[in-house]
Amino acid sequence: MGGTFDPVHCGHLSLAEDAFRQVPLDQILFIPAKRSPFKLSRDMASEEDRVAMLRAAAAEMGDCYRVSSIEIEREGVSYTYETLRALRREYAAEGKEDPLYFITGTDTYLNLELWRKSAEILSTTVFIVGQRPGYEDERLAEKMQYFRKTYGTRTLVIDNRELDISSTEIRQRIRAREPLAGMVPKSVEQYIYEHGLYRTTEAED
Ligand code: ATP
Ligand code: MG
Repeated sequence: MGGTFDPVHCGHLSLAEDAFRQVPLDQILFIPAKRSPFKLSRDMASEEDRVAMLRAAAAEMGDCYRVSSIEIEREGVSYTYETLRALRREYAAEGKEDPLYFITGTDTYLNLELWRKSAEILSTTVFIVGQRPGYEDERLAEKMQYFRKTYGTRTLVIDNRELDISSTEIRQRIRAREPLAGMVPKSVEQYIYEHGLYRTTEAED
């Protein structure tokens, strides 16, 4: 599961848990982007802070949930096709032949063709999609059918708890000194306040 995780929140975590419950997966890797190609003009919390918050959240979820710093360690903008190639190489070297699944919310899935080497990604990766409030089922169904016809993409839509939470809203709330009201785990909330994250204005893209 890739993302900016700026910060990680309960929408991300419950999507991962619902995917893990409904699809026979060995483990879930949260992969924070060093730099998303779609958010180049935006100020973000540091890599260290985003990883630390993810690690705190994942540690409370059990051994099957891990954080991978593969994109943080790579130079420059983070492209998912490079990450998938690297993970496939790593797993092949360990003799693992299982397919890789990529977990996304609806907003991300609908825009996958904007990604670099999207045809490669869509033809080699199984997608697990969870509904994100505000996105219509119909558009998702159309897109799934189109990806399947065009790239042979396999997509599993899971029945997930829909949580109307975004990192953008969390950052806005902190700037406005509003409570986070259970949008992030306690450990993440504590980290945010202890490190004074997201208190100043930012340029949104
Ligand atoms: P931002 O507002 O900064 O874009 P975000 O909340 O959208 O942050 P991302 O890091 O952009 O979080 O998202 C990573 C992945 O998690 C994406 O696939 C996105 O669709 C999914 N996701 C994020 N929030 C939710 C949510 N509330 N429910 C389901 N999926 C979500
Ligand atoms: Mg987003």
